[in-house]
Amino acid sequence: MDSKGVTLNACGIAELAAAVETLSASVLHGSLNRFSDADVVELMQRLETCKRQLSALDSRLIIEACNRSLPASSGAKDVVPFLRQTLGLSRYDASVRVKITRQCGEFFEPTGHLRPAALEKTAEAYETGDISRDHVRNIIDVMNHLPTDIPTETRAEAEDILVGHSRIGWPDDLPKIGRDILARVDPDGKVVSDADRRRRRGLILGRPGVDGMSWIEGWITPELRALLDAVFAKLARPGMCNIDDADSVAATVKIVDSKVLEAAARRDRRDAGQRAHDALFALLQPGVDPAKLGSHRGLPVQAILTMSVADLERGAGVATTASGGHVSINEALKMAEGTRPVLAVLDANGLPLYLGRCERLATPAQRLALIARDKGCTRPGCDAPASMCAVHHITDWATGGPTDLTNLTLACDHCHALVNDSAEGWRTVVMGKDSPYRGRTGWIAPKRLDPTGIPRVNDRHHVGQWVAAAIDFSCRRWGSRAA
Ligand SMILES: [Zn+2]
Repeated sequence: MDSKGVTLNACGIAELAAAVETLSASVLHGSLNRFSDADVVELMQRLETCKRQLSALDSRLIIEACNRSLPASSGAKDVVPFLRQTLGLSRYDASVRVKITRQCGEFFEPTGHLRPAALEKTAEAYETGDISRDHVRNIIDVMNHLPTDIPTETRAEAEDILVGHSRIGWPDDLPKIGRDILARVDPDGKVVSDADRRRRRGLILGRPGVDGMSWIEGWITPELRALLDAVFAKLARPGMCNIDDADSVAATVKIVDSKVLEAAARRDRRDAGQRAHDALFALLQPGVDPAKLGSHRGLPVQAILTMSVADLERGAGVATTASGGHVSINEALKMAEGTRPVLAVLDANGLPLYLGRCERLATPAQRLALIARDKGCTRPGCDAPASMCAVHHITDWATGGPTDLTNLTLACDHCHALVNDSAEGWRTVVMGKDSPYRGRTGWIAPKRLDPTGIPRVNDRHHVGQWVAAAIDFSCRRWGSRAA
């Protein structure tokens, strides 16, 4: 703690600011021509790290301003309005900085002792520039939703998981990891129960405006979401149910002609919101039966739920849907009795144990197994859920690759199109038995993007598995102590 001596760093901040001002002026006006492409990428990465380290300094200065009662003496009363008036920040930006300071700043106790940051690991990674402000904001959000009475070590493990992911992953994935953590530290639904969720449900259709349009808002349950996602995956695709295009494919068409659909998709100028509107409109037309919507990418238009056998046995935890959502195990089982979604159960190694059947399926078992195993597009970094993916042959069918599970993988249309034998193309391989990702699909980027040629896997859809492994241990200890 001494190395962070207050006087030393405070002087440093003034010098640092002067140096950054001089340097940024020279870089802004200097030519970048002499740098290679790789240099430019490296410069962008190093600049990003510097910016993160600089923004981590905010907390020290905010604490210093508060210790000197600057918000009160400036007439701003509170620290958020003080930051807004001093720095010209939006209310949101100022609030985020204050929130981060409360969790990542070090405060002096009335006794004169320096109290370490509430989220010490997060603060450390922020200061070294390993994680961004967006990561920190999302971590705080998840940590604030954890039950207050969980043991300190479980809380520390949750922070470890979030910081560990932030070092290698995107801030956008943190809420999803947070839902996974919450489902596992709160398996009995003490904090967010199915009953709580049901109490919050509601849809409000606003009064029609003078132009006849109505505003719609509200909250829907994970179960309704899973059903809507399944319908939208088919009916809200470009080229489907377009009310601007009489020749687009209608909801009642059982077997979609891919040529007609592609032509309609090329003419489709709607955004995602307009496509969802038209899908709902099509679903409510006379003669359209949601249970008879045919198939989408080879599977019936139904919610597809995947759960682990361990969660199924203890009746707690979460099932994932093909569109990347979460449903509690209890609700998933209720759905399985009532609306008969397609159900896939995985063993401890993440391999399919049981695949629910549906009489209308032609050859769906492999695709279902792929949804359970891959959960989404397998190209590293892609977040397309399984409902947006096509089945891809790892070794091309034309060159003798069999249509076996071991040679099949999920890829979204965009990533699928990147695979080819040219120098600019991506290649796919099955990870060998020496790899920790044995049996999964590895993607090799073109030399221009990754000169190493090392195959890499996509972990974005598998966070639930490692969250489960890390959290379950401490929860079991907690459970046995409580019992
Ligand atoms: Zn993809």
